[in-house]
Amino acid sequence: NYKLQGNLEMRHEVDLEVEKRPQFVPKSIMITGANRGIGYGLVKHFLEYTGVKLIVATCRLPEKAEKLSSLQSNSNGRLHVIMMDVDDDESINKANEKVAQLVGPDGLNLLINNAGILLPYDVDGDICRKTILKQLETNSVSPAIVTQKFLPLIKKAAEKFDGEDVGVNRAAIVNISSTMGSIGKNDGCFTGPMTAYRMSKSALNSFSRQSFMELSMYKILVAAFCPGWVRTDMGGENADLELDESTRVLSANILRLDSSNNGQYLDRFLHPIPN
Ligand code: NDP
Repeated sequence: NYKLQGNLEMRHEVDLEVEKRPQFVPKSIMITGANRGIGYGLVKHFLEYTGVKLIVATCRLPEKAEKLSSLQSNSNGRLHVIMMDVDDDESINKANEKVAQLVGPDGLNLLINNAGILLPYDVDGDICRKTILKQLETNSVSPAIVTQKFLPLIKKAAEKFDGEDVGVNRAAIVNISSTMGSIGKNDGCFTGPMTAYRMSKSALNSFSRQSFMELSMYKILVAAFCPGWVRTDMGGENADLELDESTRVLSANILRLDSSNNGQYLDRFLHPIPN
């Protein structure tokens, strides 16, 4: 009941414009939290772009990531599944060593910080320190640490690229945020229980903006995305979008990122969201 019809019509017009934009294909992509939900959907769609030569899907329990295993067996060696708990520095370091070997002197073109959690804000009416801190850790601190650790590989890719262009095919960091993290667009939906999640995604947006400021000089692009409200374990069954519907558009438009999007916080159609 919130002018859905109008929104869809407007989106359709703008989508046509977006679809005219060229796509760029990075040689290598790494995605965190890729065993299920949006991370998995992105892996599946990126595999459809044959120009992407290497996809590193990281997850906490590769031995239980059956869906990734079956994608891997049909990937002609393009998909690698590597263990990484984004909240654990030792596991980040080990994953980094493995990815460094995989990408070699070409470096890593695109890092997608996707792993995330949604926990309650309060327990029996009392604001819960533990669940707030855990969300801040996984949704905002861990992306900063993963980015810092993988930055030398991303810088390598940026340096190797010929020419001056900044774009997703040269070197880029994409943080999977949420409109819930927008302070300017907080419309109050899911108010209360979502407070800690909102705080964690606002912090992630701040990190994205800061990274953009610091990494522009290396020609590394940084953008934050909201995938839409998606039917995953986190999004729940009442969400607007099927996983495939969101990740098909999201993957296609991540590959359209160019210098005009550097530093932006975007919905999956590349429309800017206010911070
Ligand atoms: P899911 O709960 O379906 O999946 C979350 C993924 O993150 C799982 O693969 C999970 O791994 C992984 N993960 C969580 N903690 C860690 C960790 N410490 N180390 C490594 N991996 C971890 O969520 P979605 O797919 O829906 O969400 C993906 C991203 O999209 C999140 O950042 C979320 O905030 C964001 N988002 C989602 C929306 C939605 O409607 N679904 C809307 C807006 C944003 P494991 O299986 O091991 O738990």
